[in-house]
Amino acid sequence: MAMIVQKYGGTSVGSIERIMAVANKVRGYRDRGDQVVVVVSAMSGETNRLISLAGEIDKAPDPREMDVLVSTGEQVTIALLSMALHKVGCPARSYTGGQVHILTDSAYSKARIRDIDAARVRADLEAGRVVVVAGFQGVDEHGSITTLGRGGSDTTAVAMAAALKADECQIYTDVDGVYTTDPRVEPKARRLERITFEEMLEMASLGSKVLQIRAVEFAGKYNVPLRVLSSFEEGDGTLITFEEENMEQVKISGIAFNRDEAKLTILGVPDQPGVAYKIIGPISSQNIEVDMIIQNISHDTGRTDFTFTVNRVDFKRARDILQQTADEMGAREVLADDKIVKISLVGVGMRSHAGIASKMFEALADEGINIRMISTSEIKISVVVDEKYLELGVRALHEAFELEKEVQS
Ligand code: ADP
Ligand code: ASP
Ligand code: MG
Repeated sequence: MAMIVQKYGGTSVGSIERIMAVANKVRGYRDRGDQVVVVVSAMSGETNRLISLAGEIDKAPDPREMDVLVSTGEQVTIALLSMALHKVGCPARSYTGGQVHILTDSAYSKARIRDIDAARVRADLEAGRVVVVAGFQGVDEHGSITTLGRGGSDTTAVAMAAALKADECQIYTDVDGVYTTDPRVEPKARRLERITFEEMLEMASLGSKVLQIRAVEFAGKYNVPLRVLSSFEEGDGTLITFEEENMEQVKISGIAFNRDEAKLTILGVPDQPGVAYKIIGPISSQNIEVDMIIQNISHDTGRTDFTFTVNRVDFKRARDILQQTADEMGAREVLADDKIVKISLVGVGMRSHAGIASKMFEALADEGINIRMISTSEIKISVVVDEKYLELGVRALHEAFELEKEVQS
């Protein structure tokens, strides 16, 4: 007998038929004697539909009311799944995030979980019931509904698993595991049997939306055994593991990409102490996160150029702030480009192998893809390229690093 937390994403509960299929699957585990907690997302498309409804009233609605609104999608699916479980003869009870005391901070739309009171869930499990919990939502100390950011049901599942000390947290989705890259962009992508937490964290933070980054962080922090599997097919999926053994023959585990970035450049700024602070300071103080930054080597003119990236949702705001800074500093010009993407190679094996960067740049050069920015860390190399090269770039790198093969040369 095991205690398992299972999470089913939007596509997996996208219709009544699929909800019935999930109910049968859950029943299978319970019949085996397992204790099962199920976390569900809203039906696919529902969260977007709710967001656009709000947009018809106000482009920037009140954040508290926004969370009240978008959290309703998950309330629908917990009730439907519980009914489906009853239908297949499986006792079950549904709970909203607040009802199982998923206590969060008050940062609406991106709240962080602080605590979960698992007693109520445990009592139901002891009584032989399946517990169905609404993903993506919690409640703050004032009793207001909060949500955990897009893709946040993954985090609910991992947090429930941590609180219950579950044997495994299973993330059921519309692909059968974590792939070397998004299989929708590169059909030759290969499913990974296992990936390290460190790599998964890097992949998620560099744009792979198969797991929400906070879910991976949480799992790493609380040692939650985490697996990504298909809702529709049998299989072992991908295990997120703590060990790095058996991984050394692999240099690169995967390619992540992020379509949500935009690039800003300020040309001809005085090359003197404090300039980076003068440029980035006003952006950061407006709570705009800056990702990559490069400053050109200055020539003897005493002027330099400075480029950085921000999330596309902050693009226009950041551009206006930068224009103001440019006017104040007497800079020559501001260039703004939101038609860019970031493509990243990720792998713990990179640490012990030289020449990865040059191979990456060669593969992109062979396709005539111009690299606009570069940044590296121990286990990743990221490049910014024009948006139109996303597919070509990902496929060229996948091929150059032989990611379709289990053992790379
Ligand atoms: P869910 O609704 O179940 O949470 P998501 O759409 O959030 O599903 O995540 C699954 C999707 O993540 C896949 O359909 C796939 O297109 C995308 N994806 C991106 N990168 C990867 C990757 N490396 N491996 C697998 N899937 C990936
Ligand atoms: N329904 C939410 C979203 O679409 C949460 C989730 O699916 O994980 O982002
Ligand atoms: Mg998701």
